[in-house]
Parts: sequence; structure tokens; C-alpha cells
Amino acid sequence: MALDSLRKDETLAMRRRLIGQSCRLFYSDDPVKIVRARGQYLYDETGKRYLDCISNVQHVGHCHPDITKAAAAQMDILNTNSRFLHDNIVLYADRLAATLPKKLGVFYFVNSGSEANDLALRLAQQYTQHEDVIVLDHAYHGHLVSLIDISPYKFRKLAGQKEWVHVAPLPDTYRGTYQEDHPNPGQAYADTVKDLIEDVHRKGRKVAAFFAESLPSVGGQVILPQGYSAKVAEYVRSAGGVFVADEVQTGFGRVGSHFWAFELQGEGFCPDIVTMGKPMGNGHPLACVATTAEIAGSFTANGVEYFNTFGGNPVSCAIGMAVLDVIEKEDLRGNATRVGVHLKNLLTQLKSRHQIIGDVRGVGLFVGIELVTDRNRKIPATKAAAWVVKRLKEEDQICVSTDGPWESVVKFKPPMCFSIKDAELVVQCIDRILSDKETIDLKLENEDI
Ligand code: PMP
Repeated sequence: MALDSLRKDETLAMRRRLIGQSCRLFYSDDPVKIVRARGQYLYDETGKRYLDCISNVQHVGHCHPDITKAAAAQMDILNTNSRFLHDNIVLYADRLAATLPKKLGVFYFVNSGSEANDLALRLAQQYTQHEDVIVLDHAYHGHLVSLIDISPYKFRKLAGQKEWVHVAPLPDTYRGTYQEDHPNPGQAYADTVKDLIEDVHRKGRKVAAFFAESLPSVGGQVILPQGYSAKVAEYVRSAGGVFVADEVQTGFGRVGSHFWAFELQGEGFCPDIVTMGKPMGNGHPLACVATTAEIAGSFTANGVEYFNTFGGNPVSCAIGMAVLDVIEKEDLRGNATRVGVHLKNLLTQLKSRHQIIGDVRGVGLFVGIELVTDRNRKIPATKAAAWVVKRLKEEDQICVSTDGPWESVVKFKPPMCFSIKDAELVVQCIDRILSDKETIDLKLENEDI
């Protein structure tokens, strides 16, 4: 089978003509045309291989044969909607329930992280009969109108902040108000949410939900300080609201030690609603909301049916179960822990040699390095970060990307089969690029901004 039918320049020209230009390409100056993939590798139309450090959707590896087989087998038998009684949806829900605290035992299947968060918002508002939402600064929760409204990362560039949305500071212990040297940053940042709730009440409004990623990713691969989530949950619940953990990027064992990133906050913390997406279907559009029987009960009690044409269909659920099987069979959580620790150690060693690395942070295969032009003043080295991304692609065929409010965090969220050798190669290449005079010059140039 031919892997592509058009020359790269033809594909590009058609894309420019036919596809909305706000749908951006990676490496827009010189996009890569990827025609096949396997494991952690992508191949372009000339057969050139790229090491993929950013596809967190292809969680168990690109085109994993077990996933392909499960999908094809179920497609060959039956694919209908969830109004017909079928085993797969309940068997899959049961498998997911086994990964979550007991109280999160009711599931709604949808097709994208955005749909999951939109439904979480509806559930929270229905259950609490309140309207307002507290979100973290720089957060992104999806592309639907309702979610642009609760995503400072987007609404700041668009319609602005709605009166029912309140933004809490990002609990970033590297560059936020409370840093590593604070005796209890978890409590201090949680108190900023408490203050915000009091503000909301002063305005005569009521909080329906606090929404946060368990590890803020668009915010710059931030690790929440210990104790933060439990305290916030306490404050939000005493105001009558619920805690929504967005695990769209961070769930399914990416952090290695735990299946869900919210578990990093300790056993004393359990969200009221968990949303999941990206890795669930290894690329197949599959997402979900998990919640309590009580919250789900209030949603049922409004008398309105929830129907989702594709959500929870037998093929999606077969794929979802196959993903869970591979995570277990190949011990991908163990791999994420081992490779993640090694990657972080190597990057930390690089930090001692390169002043431009201000911070190295992460858990499992969720890792970021923040580049700064000046370590004391922590000025974001945005241009240098973009330069590193470009050169890794052009010289080493390694795909990484940037995140954070200033796009100064080089991030790693590779498929979970990423190996020790892959980690060593990437760090070696970053070392070479950061040692290069051109990068050092760029760093200085940034300082003039
Ligand atoms: N939540 C988070 C944290 C995300 O990163 C994203 C997607 N980048 C979404 C929600 C929305 O997911 P989707 O693109 O599948 O709608």
C-alpha cells in the first residue's frame, strides 16, 4: 500500500487551501509529513525516522498491534450506539472503576477531552445548583465555548473573563508567589482559593466547581505542591462546590507511581469528578467522565436524557480495554517510573552545566525543563526554547515542543514505551545544542526583550 498519494508540496498547498488556517501544523516553517509510525517512532514520506517525545495520545505506542487487533475484531462484529445493551461498555467501566477510588463509580463515555469537561461542568452545576467556576491561571480545559470560558490560556486572547469564572494563581513553586523556600506552599496556594471563594460570596455568587489539571500542563508542566488539592477540596466543598480533576493529559499511568496524577496528592484527597481523554484510546477518540453516584443521581433527576451518539460504543470500549491490558502486560507504569527518573536525573546534570536551564521538573514521563535568560530573575528564554525545538527536529530528528505561559518550557510527554536509550539520546542532543554559541547568543538576545 502506498503510504502517501501526494508530493509533500502538494499536500501542503491543499492543506493551506482546504483546511482552516487556525488549525496549525507543528514546525509551521517546515512541517514534517508523517506517513507511518510504530512505538515511539514516526516516519516521514522519505522514510526518515523521528523520535517522538510529545505524543501523549499514542500512550502505549503508535499503532500498537494489540490495539489495532482489538479495534478490527470488534468492528467486524458490531458497532452500535450505547442505547443497545452491550457487554463492552459495562466491562470497560468496571475496569476503569478498579483504577479509581471506590466513590468514583459512575461513568459517562464521550469522544474528546472537551466533551468530558463540558459534561463535568454540567454535572457540577446541576448537582450544586450553583453557577461559578474557579480555575487555575494559564489553564486549558478544551475547545468548546463553555471551556474557552474556563480556560484563561484561551479567553485572555478572545472574549475575556466571564463574571461566573474566577482565576486562582497557578501553584507554581518555581516562579509563582510561593516558591520552594516557602515552609508550606500547598497550604499557602490553597489559601488563595479560599480568598477567591470569599470574593465570590461577597459578589453574591456561588461556586459550583473548582477545575484543575492534576499536573498543570499548558501552564508549564507544573507539579502541584503537597497538600494543595486536599485543602482546596475542603474549601470548595464547604462552599457547596465540587472538585473536578482534569486528567485528560495526566491519567492512565503517565506519572508511573500511580494510575492517576491526582493520587500524587496522597490518600487524603479524592476529587468528586474526574475527566479523562487523550491516552484512553491510544489515538481513537475516546474520553470519559467518572463521578459519584450522588452527583450522577442529581443529573438523572433533572429528567433529561444524556445521549452521546458515539460515546461508549462497542469498538471504543474494546479499544479502551486493550489499552488497559497493554499498560499492565508491558508494565508501562514501571517503565514510566524508571525512564522518567533517569531522564530527570540526566536533565538535572545538564542544569549544572548550562545556566540557561532554570528548572527541571516532572514525574514519570511528564517532564519539563524551563529555560531562562537569567537564573536569578527567571526571565523566560522563549526564543532559545523555540530554537532548541527547531534544531532537535532538523539535526537529530527528535520531536519535542514547548509549553508554559511564555512557551519557555521544553516538554516531554512521549509514548509510554519511551526507553532509557531514547532518554539518553535526547539529553545528549540537548546538551550539544545548549553548548552551541548560537544558543548562547540567542539567550542574550532574549534579555533585550
Ligand atoms: N483538558 C486538557 C488538560 C487538555 O490538554 C486538552 C487538550 N489539549 C483538553 C482538555 C481537551 O481535549 P480534546 O482536545 O480531546 O477535546
